[in-house]
Amino acid sequence: MAYTIDDSCIACGACTADCPVDAISEGDIYVINADTCIDCGACAAACPVGAPKEG
Ligand code: SF4
Ligand code: SF4
Repeated sequence: MAYTIDDSCIACGACTADCPVDAISEGDIYVINADTCIDCGACAAACPVGAPKEG
């Protein structure tokens, strides 16, 4: 299962630079491409509000 970003995202952009496969797209809230995500957890570690959730 890919990570998903929930509504608590404040669109800071911190997660995008840490994603090794560029799976995260910019937006009002950021979105993870489930087909590209390799479940590494780097986005969750980088996020100041804990918005990326496993599964
Ligand atoms: Fe990218 Fe890893 Fe987050 Fe998936 S879990 S979106 S691969 S940083
Ligand atoms: Fe949203 Fe967290 Fe990514 Fe910032 S680091 S854009 S708050 S998911």
